Amino acid sequence: MERTLVMIKPDGVERNLIGKIINIFEEKGLKVVAIKKLRLTKEQAKAFYIVHKDRPFYESLTDYISSGSVVAIVFEGENAIKKVREIMGATDPKDAEEGTIRKLFGLNKEKNTVHGSDSPESAKKEINFFFSESELI
Ligand code: ATP
Ligand code: MG
Repeated sequence: MERTLVMIKPDGVERNLIGKIINIFEEKGLKVVAIKKLRLTKEQAKAFYIVHKDRPFYESLTDYISSGSVVAIVFEGENAIKKVREIMGATDPKDAEEGTIRKLFGLNKEKNTVHGSDSPESAKKEINFFFSESELI
């Protein structure tokens, strides 16, 4: 079974969408392995999104991600990485398919409500960013 990391971004937490978002993933057969709510510092947000350090939106994105609480969730399932990205929809909610989380709830290209790992390597890195071995039962 594959594991992946989902982060509900501050716009989702602020608008009380935690339950609705988890429900959408659960209904599609994904299982919660681990979950926590926390607020990232600016430095932690920069570390989490380090792959985007040279992109023009890096400062704004990391300001936003550290502006409020996030919820980190490890989901498990068959093809979990790809499945989660399909359920989330395209980065820009305007381009996202009907019924996807970003289409339903995303505010704009930056405040798009959820993050999901994009490869097995980033899933491993991102799961270990938020969770210790003993939390991953
Ligand atoms: P995520 O990594 O959060 O799951 P993604 O893989 O669909 O999203 P990336 O290209 O990895 O998209 O960008 C990471 C995040 O940076 C996006 O989810 C979004 O919040 C923000 N972002 C991406 N492109 C832009 C942009 N052009 N302007 C503002 N913010 C952006
Ligand atoms: Mg990405």
